[in-house]
Amino acid sequence: MGNVCLKAEGITKTFGGLKAVDSLSFEVREGEILGLIGPNGSGKTTTINMLTGLYPVNAGRISFYGKDISSSKPHEINRVGMARTFQNIRLFQSLTVRKNVMVARYHDSRVNLLDVLFGSRRNKHLAMCEQGCDEMLELIGLKDKADWYAGGLPYGRQKCLEIARAMATHPKFLLLDEPAAGLNATEINELKEIMLKIRKMGVTILVVEHHMDLIMEICTRIVVLNHGKKIAEGTAKEVQNDEEVIKAYLGDQYQKNA
Ligand code: ADP
Ligand code: MG
Repeated sequence: MGNVCLKAEGITKTFGGLKAVDSLSFEVREGEILGLIGPNGSGKTTTINMLTGLYPVNAGRISFYGKDISSSKPHEINRVGMARTFQNIRLFQSLTVRKNVMVARYHDSRVNLLDVLFGSRRNKHLAMCEQGCDEMLELIGLKDKADWYAGGLPYGRQKCLEIARAMATHPKFLLLDEPAAGLNATEINELKEIMLKIRKMGVTILVVEHHMDLIMEICTRIVVLNHGKKIAEGTAKEVQNDEEVIKAYLGDQYQKNA
């Protein structure tokens, strides 16, 4: 594994009296697919929200390639190379698939959001942007549907489109919040292939997921949360056999004898 790229040290988030995430520390190394798992309400989304600047941390420190990003805003974090998807779909249903990806890139200062939406004042940067977006659509197998309305895609394809939107900003680090939720077995397999391709492109991944087969198959390491605290960390085999993880989350079915 490569160098440490993301480091969380004792990060904490409280909502009223509730400690949603409690002194959580972990590292992600370049080239990893790190799985973040745990029961509903254990603090997984809150962790992603802190890592991406959506929620300020109440305590602790987050660094990305050595740079302290604990108090950075989401757009600043995006600019240093982190991108995410959300647990719930956040697409523009009545825009085309291609435009959904292009809008995700509007921070590219040479491309104006209105130009993207209305195709006005076409210029070479817009054309380049389109080409870059089509590469991302190719990655997720949606290039032939580029002119469809996003809302017309099956649910599973919409979730993949969210990944293309995040990838359009050319991140070094991608955070996925339950990308397989609501997907059928075929779609989960496609998602797995997409994630492996993204990793091959040199992008490090942090994934929150309940589909254990997917997690166990592709994650290089897994961090397990319960009530906002880390209860285990290790390879799939290690966490599958961890007593506390079995009790809090997995049950017996995933226990594999080492
Ligand atoms: P997970 O993603 O693991 O299911 P969350 O991070 O969404 O869990 O939530 C962790 C805990 O924090 C839950 O008890 C949830 O109700 C609470 N929580 C999350 N976001 C908020 C918020 N914006 N305001 C108040 N409570 C929240
Ligand atoms: Mg969640």
